[in-house]
Amino acid sequence: MERISNAIAGERRLSSSTRSSQVFNPATGEQIAELPLSTVDEVNQAVASAKAVAKEWGATPPLKRARYMFRFKELLDAHADDIAREISREHGKTHDDALGEVARGIEVVEFACGIPQLLKGEFSRNVGPQVDSYSDRQPLGVVAGITPFNFPAMVPLWMYPIAIAAGNTFVLKPSERDPSAPMLVWDLFKKAGFPDGVLNVVHGDKEAVDTLLDHPDVKAISFVGSTPIAEYVYSRGTAKGKRVQALGGAKNHMIIMPDADMDKAADALMGAGYGSAGERCMAISVAVPVGDETADKLVEILKPRVESMRIGPSTDADADMGPVITKAHQEKVLGYIDQGVAQGADLVVDGRDFKLQGYEEGYFVGGTLFDRVTDDMTIYKEEIFGPVLSVLRAKDYDHAVDLINKHEYGNGTAIFTRDGDAARSFADDIEVGMVGVNVPIPVPVAYHSFGGWKRSLFGDHSIYGPEGVRFYTRLKTVTTRWPAGIKEGAVFTFPNMD
Ligand code: NAD
Repeated sequence: MERISNAIAGERRLSSSTRSSQVFNPATGEQIAELPLSTVDEVNQAVASAKAVAKEWGATPPLKRARYMFRFKELLDAHADDIAREISREHGKTHDDALGEVARGIEVVEFACGIPQLLKGEFSRNVGPQVDSYSDRQPLGVVAGITPFNFPAMVPLWMYPIAIAAGNTFVLKPSERDPSAPMLVWDLFKKAGFPDGVLNVVHGDKEAVDTLLDHPDVKAISFVGSTPIAEYVYSRGTAKGKRVQALGGAKNHMIIMPDADMDKAADALMGAGYGSAGERCMAISVAVPVGDETADKLVEILKPRVESMRIGPSTDADADMGPVITKAHQEKVLGYIDQGVAQGADLVVDGRDFKLQGYEEGYFVGGTLFDRVTDDMTIYKEEIFGPVLSVLRAKDYDHAVDLINKHEYGNGTAIFTRDGDAARSFADDIEVGMVGVNVPIPVPVAYHSFGGWKRSLFGDHSIYGPEGVRFYTRLKTVTTRWPAGIKEGAVFTFPNMD
């Protein structure tokens, strides 16, 4: 059985931990690797390795750091297919979907290649007689990232390319469910020639995370995962004086106005609701048609599409979606469907008995569609993170907006309409961080920033893009008076530069 190693100080190191977790192929249910859960000492070694080179790396000219990034990007492009295969083997998503994930990760590396321009400061001449002032952004030192299972390559790439290009060194703690893709990406990072210790990867669970949260040499933490853990990471990390951005879970709604193109809206819902088996933080899990007529039409179009969706392993090039991540998660999703039925939702398509010949032990859940869901039901209130789409019928536009604004999560949302006025008001009024108008999954491109509102993000900064640069740097402002000014003697009043 393969044992997955850490990457510390530029080399792969097998952990000596006596604790481990198992990595499965979710399509077959077979164990494919053993993942040692690193000891406190090993996490400390990773931080020490990052600290040892932090000063030198931070002083390396940004243009030189960008050149390493360019080489890294070329290697990622050349190996995109291999990374996607590694993602699919442990996560279960289709190969094309995994390729899409890799492409979105590479975009952040492309953005990080522009770091000299992004770090350029501001200069003001003559802020006072013979006094000049400049502000620029400097790296923090050692920073760490903790990432979820659902995008094992992309989410780490949301973090460290920007952190490292900005002059920090990094310790990554990936998800223990699918650790091989981030390791393959680390191999490429090393091949790109970055100095040893600039990027370290330690595998582990709560113990490793807590060690990073408490470590005095770790200056900032980026976290992406579920809301309860995001909240925990945020409060423990900030209590230790760290900068923390912690992105959490979601319940994303899509409003379908009566004037929308129903066919296009249904297609959008299929991809956004069931793609990646619903295991995306930007998945649409609630469709909100406005008016009963719109709802009836939508459900009528959706039903046969959900029933005929092709579900299979990632090796099936025609599959629309694969299994969910673990047996425990499969049981959790099936439990939510039972609860939806028990609480009175109308189960239009039931995915509970789905079985795939030859993959009977895989963690598959069939596409499931509920109609007439209400806002007091558990399947509406909680994030299911599976291929389950709920239709909640709104009586009018205001009702639809009110539902979204009242929900505890505020990650993504969308409206499908031809009415410019409705679309514009929606973008203004909605209390959600990422909004799509006729775009079901409005994940911002790499040169904007990604982040939800309310309990979908704890902290003040969204991730990647310009917000990522701000998060991983701190502002320094230098005021200089040139030697001729000193001869005038001491000044005892508060400086006003006159
Ligand atoms: P998770 O919260 O279980 O795990 C995320 C990370 O936290 C992992 O590295 C894990 O090892 C660590 N962790 C787990 N339990 C911990 C504990 N008790 N103490 C300290 N660390 C702990 O999340 P997941 O199941 O891997 O990912 C799915 C969740 O992530 C969903 O809720 C999804 O919405 C969310 N997500 C959010 C975004 C976003 O951008 N907002 C993106 C992707 C995923």
